[in-house]
Amino acid sequence: MGCQMNVLDSELVAGQLRRAGYEPAVDMASADVVLINTCSVRDHAEKKALSRIGQLKKPKQVNPDLIVGVIGCLAERDPEGLIAKVPHVDLICGPGELHKIPAMIEEVRASRERVIALASSQSRRGSLLERSRQYDSLEALELSREPAPGDRVLQSYIRVQRGCDKFCSFCVVPFTRGPERSRAPQQIVDEARMLVDRGAKEVTLLGQTVNSYLNQQNGRTVRFSDLLERVAAVPGLERLRFVTSYPGDFTEDIFQAMRDLPPVCEYLHLPVQSGSDAVLKRMKRVYTVGRFVELIDRGREMVPGITFASDFIVGFCGETQAEFAETVALIERCRFKNIFVFKYSERPGTVAAKRVPDDIPAEVKRRRNSELLAMQKRISLADHQALIGRTVEVLAEGYSKAATKAQQAEQARGDEVGWRRSDQLVGRTRGDRIVVFTGGPELIGRLVSIRITGATALTLFGDVVQAVAPSAGESLPIVA
Ligand code: SF4
Repeated sequence: MGCQMNVLDSELVAGQLRRAGYEPAVDMASADVVLINTCSVRDHAEKKALSRIGQLKKPKQVNPDLIVGVIGCLAERDPEGLIAKVPHVDLICGPGELHKIPAMIEEVRASRERVIALASSQSRRGSLLERSRQYDSLEALELSREPAPGDRVLQSYIRVQRGCDKFCSFCVVPFTRGPERSRAPQQIVDEARMLVDRGAKEVTLLGQTVNSYLNQQNGRTVRFSDLLERVAAVPGLERLRFVTSYPGDFTEDIFQAMRDLPPVCEYLHLPVQSGSDAVLKRMKRVYTVGRFVELIDRGREMVPGITFASDFIVGFCGETQAEFAETVALIERCRFKNIFVFKYSERPGTVAAKRVPDDIPAEVKRRRNSELLAMQKRISLADHQALIGRTVEVLAEGYSKAATKAQQAEQARGDEVGWRRSDQLVGRTRGDRIVVFTGGPELIGRLVSIRITGATALTLFGDVVQAVAPSAGESLPIVA
């Protein structure tokens, strides 16, 4: 559950368990061990995780040997709460201790006792470096990363940075994932090379504030744009993306890298959270709306075809109607490709939870949330309609969900599967727009050039123009 960091963590844990002799179970009923990787960033995410864990109570009663584990940010944030609410949990492991999981499973099996491993339970004293190391055990997992045959590596994640030092007043991440640390550039380049050798076409560099990446190598400072340059040079890598960027640390050299390095995609996820300087101040975000708008404008000047996405929190402590109106104005001004809107929910332990009341009524949060989404839908639809008739480069990822669902329904009914629907593929442009088009399985994993014929706010539809596009950055027209 949760963010891309969790997707990657789950992959690393699965790889580790495979090396220890485990195999993925076909379903929950036949599993010996079930691990739920949880998210704690919002109250809703925690409730969802608790409900999934709760669903394992009955299977555990039927099969007391079943090992139920909770890993990830909720495990790190609230182990006592977990034990109280879902006492059938056998294993609790924070995101910094995942390398211990095979040993923890064996310990549960041998002792029949609950086993807990949390980075935050270790000493909070010591230098920043020492405390960082308590969260750094993932290093070993990353260094031994080895996708198994059959694993989906076409679009892979690489963690370049762990933790966060920003301590935005609403956010729990610095408490669950520890201080910010940047990995050595050579390790990242080696990991990218290994993934490309195994079939990756697209790599996404992950960091909580990925653009703040900074590493010292042989006395030289490696900035994020330097890292992009090194990874982009990996032979065979078609596309390079990165998430998530922090506006306060964004520098122009990254736009230059996006413009000049062919694999680096023209897409930037830049969460602003609010269009009001007063709210940003209460959130402890160290930039202003003016600076954010300047960044968007500069990006559009420097990187042809760039698209932006952003995150917003509505109903943050004390958000007035006038402050909300500033957010509406910002969205109108910036014309994002898409936005993610979240209703503020208080996270225990954060500065906001301690110092400012969560005083906006749920109904107001709901209304503001719907208003922003409706507005963005209108913007996205207009932008998508403007692309009709244009040709875009798409990395074909697989069958579209709608096609797969329709196919499954037809199969369940015993109908013959219609060829058209089963051949609906989905992929993304360099600007991260979703495109559905008709094509055969031979296109999956390839760059395809598609002429856009239709659009909704979320999806573009098109026809294949050229089955195999040139390598990234070559002559293919790129408009989105
Ligand atoms: S930058 Fe702020 S919102 Fe993002 S992970 Fe760090 S503390 Fe959380």
